[in-house]
Amino acid sequence: NTFQDLGLNEDLLHAITDLGFTKPSEVQSKAIPILLESETDLVALAQTGTGKTAAFGFPMLHKINVDSRTTQGLILSPTRELCLQITNEMKLYGKYCKGLNVVAVYGGSSITDQARDVKKGAQIIVATPGRIKDMINRKLVDISKIEYAVLDEADEMLNMGFYEDITDILSNTPEDKCTWLFSATMPREVAVIAKKFMENPQEITV
Ligand code: AMP
Repeated sequence: NTFQDLGLNEDLLHAITDLGFTKPSEVQSKAIPILLESETDLVALAQTGTGKTAAFGFPMLHKINVDSRTTQGLILSPTRELCLQITNEMKLYGKYCKGLNVVAVYGGSSITDQARDVKKGAQIIVATPGRIKDMINRKLVDISKIEYAVLDEADEMLNMGFYEDITDILSNTPEDKCTWLFSATMPREVAVIAKKFMENPQEITV
């Protein structure tokens, strides 16, 4: 079981070699082939520290078109810290994807600076729900053409009261996008979100 076997492109394999990742973690072995092979929704039950960022990050980086400046991927995360951490990881994983722009959008920092970075053309936006909702309302971001949406730590986002924000944000995205939900636990609220926003999701547990 190697990253080559999973079908990731050369740019990603090159970055993986640099990072010293020798073999895929369990969540990566389970999620990456599913996400590469089909345009499907996914529910993944996985804790932090399992390599889940790469489990959704590699397939997203593999699938987006870096020659286009349109925002194609959106990753929602509960906190500023996690948002920055995911952004850093995505930049490392995508370091050989020429033309890639990953932009972090989160509260407590200049909205003007973030809007300027988005405007330069971000194929991937990593965001906390409150700030991106604000930016959508002010027409500072356009997520109307995204193809992939990740809800990371969905249980945490719901615990923090982001249900309405998530609903509002996803209502600004295309019906036919793929939604990939990652959560450490599966309380009823997460199942409700999955049912509301996803269509026959594949399910994995690690
Ligand atoms: P995460 O669960 O996404 O927060 O990842 C936890 C840590 O594991 C991060 O520092 C990753 O860089 C690292 N990591 C992810 N995948 C692998 C892998 N296949 N081999 C070694 N380290 C990894």
